[in-house]
Amino acid sequence: MAYDFDLFVIGAGSGGVRAARFAAGFGAKVAVAESRYLGGTCVNVGCVPKKLLVYGAHVADELEQAAGFGWTLEEGHFDWGTLIANKNREIERLNGIYRNLLVNSGVTLLQGHARITGANEVEVHGQRYSAEHILIATGGWPQVPDIPGKELAITSNEAFYLKELPRRVLVVGGGYIAVEFAGIFQGLGADTTLLYRGDLFLRGFDGSVRTHLKEELEKRGLNLQFNADIQRIDKLEDGTLKATLKDGRELLADCVFYATGRRPMLDNLGLENTGVELDARGYIRVDDQYQTTAPSVLAIGDVIGRVQLTPVALAEGMAVARRLFKPEQYRPVDYQNIPTAVFSQPPIGTVGLTEEQALEAGHKVQVFESRFRAMKLTLTDIQEKTLMKLVVDAETDKVLGCHMVGPDAGEIIQGLGVALKAGATKQQFDETIGVHPTAAEEFVTMRTATR
Ligand code: FAD
Ligand code: NDP
Repeated sequence: MAYDFDLFVIGAGSGGVRAARFAAGFGAKVAVAESRYLGGTCVNVGCVPKKLLVYGAHVADELEQAAGFGWTLEEGHFDWGTLIANKNREIERLNGIYRNLLVNSGVTLLQGHARITGANEVEVHGQRYSAEHILIATGGWPQVPDIPGKELAITSNEAFYLKELPRRVLVVGGGYIAVEFAGIFQGLGADTTLLYRGDLFLRGFDGSVRTHLKEELEKRGLNLQFNADIQRIDKLEDGTLKATLKDGRELLADCVFYATGRRPMLDNLGLENTGVELDARGYIRVDDQYQTTAPSVLAIGDVIGRVQLTPVALAEGMAVARRLFKPEQYRPVDYQNIPTAVFSQPPIGTVGLTEEQALEAGHKVQVFESRFRAMKLTLTDIQEKTLMKLVVDAETDKVLGCHMVGPDAGEIIQGLGVALKAGATKQQFDETIGVHPTAAEEFVTMRTATR
């Protein structure tokens, strides 16, 4: 049977755009439907605008350090409106680049909500298109717990478009987004409190990293409240928000920001017209080649709920394009040793196993840990410490994990990701000549095991 398209991609985000472009490049006839914004979450309300705001907040650090280097600066003034307008202009530029990337690679771009109407059929704006393969790459959406007053809270989606910087912010959650936005709000001058329901935030990260970041954030004056959760939110007459905690405490704020995880975006997608099944957590169930339980439907990215990071969605998109249209080049995505950064202030960079995971996996673990004051701070009064940590298998000498909290952690950890992928040993780290003077050289000069 002749189809309108070889591949119909739903969602022009990180994964969808990558799959569509490469499939078209391999000679397939491809369509992409996008209901909201080209480039998806990452470009519009995720990685990119977040990083721009992080840079904005980081300027406060540079200003604080300036005096130590002999600079006298007049009192600075920050204007949220300017930052957001400049950020919006950059996002629009990127939207245009994504459009050109798709169109120039021969992909048919359909703007509108796509709904699957049959095993090989998708509807956009009342028009039905047939396709041999349908790829669901619809991403995720913020999830706010169902508490009274939840409509008074905002999520990351809205934070990027706030008209002004709130004076007092309550950030709820203890994952990537909560920690990053707490740093943004606080760095830009808002009186910020982070509320996390557990004992210590960033569950799943290395224990030393979590404790170190907690100490550094507290040094910076961020109000961290653990074992704290909001029961209800009310709006007072003057517009102030009152958050009542489960332990009865009442906190006042101008903005309550929820970052309590994301759900798969399946709204009105028409899954009931397919044999696509969901897993126990509600994400689309796929096999190791992104095949759903319906033969003609595949899924990648945040909607399958594996690792919710842009480079992972890109790798999955590439794998699908190759598997379908260039099988001789197909290589499975390697989910081991994915480097990642949390753009907190200071940031975290991490790759490989945490100490806790290594022990749990039965490794005999040797830990090398170093805490030091970065050279850049020695001419200032700032007492911030950088943490670097290596988790090593004592029997094979293989480096199992590298973890860092400190300036440029994301930049530094990328290279270590290559080392871990290549299976580097601690001896090879030791034999690597350092780059002097840098903070990064500490990763190749830690000689004595801490434990
Ligand atoms: P998305 O990029 O979400 O794209 C899905 C697209 O599908 C969207 O454009 C949506 O409008 C569209 N869509 C949905 N339903 C339909 C439909 N029915 N019809 C048509 N179109 C539809 N990751 C990192 O690696 N580094 C970071 O620093 C980072 N920062 C982040 C910060 C924030 C605040 C957030 C929220 C996420 C961040 N992420 C980061 C995660 C990253 O953004 C996601 O993992 C990535 O965007 C997932 O790509 P995707 O292709 O699965 O989905
Ligand atoms: P995460 O899953 O990382 O964190 C969610 C947080 O909310 C956890 O601390 C969780 O607590 C808490 N939580 C969940 N449900 C509730 C609830 N009902 N009440 C109170 N607290 C709750 O989600 P995020 O929203 O922070 O980010 C989503 C994903 O996006 C990330 O996991 C990451 O993959 C990606 N991302 C990546 C970034 C990067 O690469 N720098 C930046 C931003 C996002 P608990 O731990 O107790 O379950």
